[in-house]
Amino acid sequence: MLTENLTVAGHSVSPLHYINGQRVASSPRFDLHSPIDQSLLGQVCEGGAEQVQAAIAAAQNAFPAWSALTAVERKPYLDRFTFEIGQRAEAFCQLESTDAGVLLSRMAHGVVPRAMLNISWFAEHALTLQDRPIETEQATHLVRHDPAGVVVIITPWNAPLMLATWKLGPALAAGNTVIVKPPEWAPLTSSLLADCAHAAGLPPGVFNIVQGSGANTGAKLVSDPRLARVSFTGSVPTAKWIAQAAGANLVPCSLELGGKSPFIVLQDADIDNAAATGALMYRNAGQVCLAGTRFLVHSQVRDAFVAAMRGYVDKLKVGDPRDAATEVGPIIHPRQVERVQGFVECALADGAELLWGGAPHPFGAQYYQPTMLTNLRQDSEIVQNEVFGPVLTLQTFDSDEELVAMANGTDYGLGGVCYGEVAHATAIAQQVRTGFIWVNSFGIRDLAAPFGGIKRSGVGREGGDWSFEFFCDIKDVVVPK
Ligand code: NAD
Repeated sequence: MLTENLTVAGHSVSPLHYINGQRVASSPRFDLHSPIDQSLLGQVCEGGAEQVQAAIAAAQNAFPAWSALTAVERKPYLDRFTFEIGQRAEAFCQLESTDAGVLLSRMAHGVVPRAMLNISWFAEHALTLQDRPIETEQATHLVRHDPAGVVVIITPWNAPLMLATWKLGPALAAGNTVIVKPPEWAPLTSSLLADCAHAAGLPPGVFNIVQGSGANTGAKLVSDPRLARVSFTGSVPTAKWIAQAAGANLVPCSLELGGKSPFIVLQDADIDNAAATGALMYRNAGQVCLAGTRFLVHSQVRDAFVAAMRGYVDKLKVGDPRDAATEVGPIIHPRQVERVQGFVECALADGAELLWGGAPHPFGAQYYQPTMLTNLRQDSEIVQNEVFGPVLTLQTFDSDEELVAMANGTDYGLGGVCYGEVAHATAIAQQVRTGFIWVNSFGIRDLAAPFGGIKRSGVGREGGDWSFEFFCDIKDVVVPK
């Protein structure tokens, strides 16, 4: 097999595509820089029409044999795939910390174990899928989950390994063949996944990677009429484009998009717990879709909450994501740094006040101080739009009615956090219009539970049966009695 590797953080990784079980080179290539220090990590291939066509043809050719296997027969492949990820755990950690700036500690303790589970859990869960009969007086309905066909998976840069595997696991376990288009700002761990698939013996064409930019490679992929599904995680503008391109061919899309999730602190909340969790919203430099970024705090506890959260924020260590003590790493790209700064400047020009932060961090060009803005109107740009950086907002409320209106007062509807006395917080949580919300907690996830957003935050649900419903053609075989 053609080999050509970059050495990044002491680990070897291919800058090539992976199509039909082979590494494939192409030109042009794009430069890849580390957000840690802007160093050039190497050049990665940009897939053009030829590679896109080859990947779709390979996935189509591989589909009949792969889809004909039972879930029991596919499981050993996916278990080996999981094993191979584990074998490369250190490389996955180092590569994603270097190209995406994700905390090394988070990679080791959170992302890599979860990536493995994303494959193995769905391989196991797929065993429960077939032929769930519905018995009636007239007939037996054998409800089948048939694999849909060729699936394109498009992922963002903030969690490339986690999100590629979150989609790959169910797509492959259900019997589809896949093409992954990784994010051009953080493509390395997806490339390493191809090494895992290869070592696991996945048949050629079952798993393919085409590297490249969204506007070029991604757009060509999602416009192809031979696709059965597009599974996308990323921003709202891109989702609108993809939905139109895929919609032109009536190809169903799953869209997991941005958020402007409320972080609610009721008057009966445990203020210290809420404040400690609040400071976690700066993790990954705020580049987390499900973070609560709009703090809505009861006016009676506002001062106590601000003081408590400030205490936690002052202790946050901003710095190199490979340093075990670091809690807030870099922003992915100079363009994003400008965007974050632009949001802050607009808010201040619009009358906002800084509670803390508000400027680049001295650690380096792509680091920004954890920032909190207040004195905002509900229609302020920064209250309404996703910043995707370490910039949060704080507004106050005086009644539950006012709170619920504010919580629901954006076009987004991804997640939320609600701190308060359990019954009170649960009652409020039920009125917040989002895809999920955590009561007195943050980030508890289970692969069996539904995940996704409403309004501008997305279309569809992932997780458990919902992933399989998307990646399968559900069919009723009716056998009369
Ligand atoms: P983005 O939309 O710019 O890019 C996402 C992916 O889409 C990249 O791989 C990109 O190359 C590709 N792409 C861009 N244009 C395309 C096109 N025309 N056709 C096909 N593919 C195209 O998003 P981003 O900046 O990489 O990621 C940040 C966004 O992702 C934020 O809005 C964040 O909230 C969201 N996000 C959502 C979730 C979730 O689960 N809801 C998780 C993580 C990130």
